[in-house]
Amino acid sequence: MPLTLTHDVLLKERTTLRLGGPALAEAVVSCAAGLDELARVLPGLGGRPLALGAGSNLLAADGPHALILVRAANNAPAELSNQPDGTTLVRAGAGLRLPRLLGFCQRAGLAGLEGLTGVPGRIGGGVAMNAGSYGVELGSLVSRVRLWTPEGGLIWREAKDCAFGYRHFDPQLGTGKGTSANFWLIWEAEFILRADEPFAIRKRMEANYAKKKATQPVTAKSAGCVFKNPAGSSAGRLLDEAGVKGKRLGGMAFSTVHANFLVNEGGGTAAEALELLEYGRAMVFDRFSMNLETEVVVLQ
Ligand SMILES: Cc1cc2nc3c(=O)[nH]c(=O)nc-3n(C[C@H](O)[C@H](O)[C@H](O)COP(=O)(O)OP(=O)(O)OC[C@H]3O[C@@H](n4cnc5c(N)ncnc54)[C@H](O)[C@@H]3O)c2cc1C
Repeated sequence: MPLTLTHDVLLKERTTLRLGGPALAEAVVSCAAGLDELARVLPGLGGRPLALGAGSNLLAADGPHALILVRAANNAPAELSNQPDGTTLVRAGAGLRLPRLLGFCQRAGLAGLEGLTGVPGRIGGGVAMNAGSYGVELGSLVSRVRLWTPEGGLIWREAKDCAFGYRHFDPQLGTGKGTSANFWLIWEAEFILRADEPFAIRKRMEANYAKKKATQPVTAKSAGCVFKNPAGSSAGRLLDEAGVKGKRLGGMAFSTVHANFLVNEGGGTAAEALELLEYGRAMVFDRFSMNLETEVVVLQ
């Protein structure tokens, strides 16, 4: 099916924090024909479109959301093309899971992504968030991104024409080409990777995962780090020193493993999560006069 529409979809069933009330509908698109169909039906669905990946960076409020969740389901294995300079261009659909791409590249002897070992999510969400870990930001490896808008369809956008920042991506559609768009969906991305021994890549991935497992609640229900690290500092350390680590409210808590992870220990609500988030921010401000910026995407 190019396009599958489902009404009244619970965000708590679509997010790793397991929080969030119902969205009006969800559109799952598996191919370009599905995107054409989506452009036709979207205006009649009555809500604001929101691109959704694996929901691993979302904190959705408990009440109803006037949203149409748009999920790219193009998750075929990545395609490779060797470049004259010895690098390899890797093209991946937005619906492909990031860990699957890492595994595929390791077996193919393609290096560059190893820092992102243990980061969940899909390619679309990874590029949209410019996911980063252990010195690697996904955006730094992007060559170009294929975007879809209801008005303009599919277009390729070179990385140099996009803005990548700390957990930030903007395709800058409103500038440069005379186009403007309220909603855009990442449909595909191309990455430039370099050749290395599969065994050496695997060793680096294993070392990174071991480090993550030792320092982060990797199996808990979370959305990763809730606050961005202030320049030259660590939000986790600041929260820890402000006494926030382990603080709980109802079913939600700041992890005892890593203070910057808010975890749903079972039966938690978004109201509790949001209250804890503001509590953590206030405690750090009181202690260090530093204002922590939210990293997790909050859907109110
Ligand atoms: C245990 C754990 C560990 C984590 N560790 C890290 C880490 O080390 N580093 C890190 O950076 N993050 C980390 N995260 C956060 C998260 O995994 C990343 O931000 C991930 O890239 C989000 O991808 P997603 O597909 O889940 O996106 P979602 O959570 O579904 O969406 C996130 C944002 O991206 C947008 N988006 C999603 N798909 C698309 C698309 N196709 N087109 C346009 N916009 C889109 C959404 O609208 C939303 O604004 C962690 C999360 C967990 C649960």
